[in-house]
Amino acid sequence: EDISEAVRVLRTGMLVQGVEVSKFESFVSKLVNTSYASAVSNGTAGLHLALLALGIGYGDEIIIPAFSFIATANSVELVGARCVFVDIHPGYFNIDENKIEEVISERTKAIIVVHEFGLCANMPEIMKVADRNGLKVIEDAACAIGATLYKKHAGSFGDIGSFSFHPRKSITSGEGGMIVTSEWEYDQKVKTFRNHGIEPGSFPNNFIAAGFNYRMTDFQAALVLNQFMRLDYIIETKTDLASVYFEEINHKSVRLPEIAEGAKHSWQTFHVLCEDEKMRNNLMAYLKEKGVQTNYGAQCIPAMSYYRNKYNHNSETEFPNALKAYSCGLALPIYSTLRKEQVKYISEMINRF
Ligand SMILES: *Cc1c(COP(=O)(O)O)cnc(C)c1O
Repeated sequence: EDISEAVRVLRTGMLVQGVEVSKFESFVSKLVNTSYASAVSNGTAGLHLALLALGIGYGDEIIIPAFSFIATANSVELVGARCVFVDIHPGYFNIDENKIEEVISERTKAIIVVHEFGLCANMPEIMKVADRNGLKVIEDAACAIGATLYKKHAGSFGDIGSFSFHPRKSITSGEGGMIVTSEWEYDQKVKTFRNHGIEPGSFPNNFIAAGFNYRMTDFQAALVLNQFMRLDYIIETKTDLASVYFEEINHKSVRLPEIAEGAKHSWQTFHVLCEDEKMRNNLMAYLKEKGVQTNYGAQCIPAMSYYRNKYNHNSETEFPNALKAYSCGLALPIYSTLRKEQVKYISEMINRF
């Protein structure tokens, strides 16, 4: 069905930034409960535009978690700002909200909060810190479509939220992303920058900025929009599978993820921690032998070559939880067509290891 939707749109001949993209945008803004939504070519483009819309640039400091997919930090570098890293909570894998205030300086402009693996960060506390210090908040909700905290959708807490629809996320457009906000001014900037700097709605085109081409195609929008009809089902199914992991995995050196109070996890990833890196690598190889494909979770960004050379942090002492999540973390299979018996088998293989 998803594929025939994409093909139907291909046959119309209207391929870019047309009716389907508009439908996709209205759908997401309703789901997330923001006034505006703008589809973009991918989640990284979304973060880049979010920073530009907030006027962030050279010399500004942006607070980000030390553990995330590298794109969170790359987007900060793209606008010439500096990354200021904060360690994560060891069980939630999200930024430790208690450690944000101590790194705020006169140059700090914003916090990028990541809802890692589909679990919302502690937004009520983070918004308080941001308000107290006059900071903007961008939510990197790349993994968090369908995730809520006290029934409020990820992406709707801060100034701007950014989603990704890469195939590793719960639903996909191939490449794709969506920016949400309730501020008209930010939305206008996003829509201008994603479309060659053209003032939205102007005719003839008024070129008011040196923009990018970060647009999404209509067949991609149709492909992902059709999957939204199953999103609740997908998340429910993954939640059931996660509960099987919780019941079945019983290994003294494997730490299961924690779920924060009030959070509805979207289970983009089921991420466990091994005792050390050697065990993680051996467990990964063992599971592969047993026919189970696993993957790494995300990066300890300040320990990656570019960031290590530029910022010179000692991750072991400064970001121990992020480093542990990076070097000892393992993402187990979780997807809506996986069966409970298969999850039981994977758990048993882990217990046997
Ligand atoms: C996937 C992901 C991104 C990047 O999204 P793309 O669509 O691949 O550009 C950014 N941040 C996080 C936390 C992600 O998981």
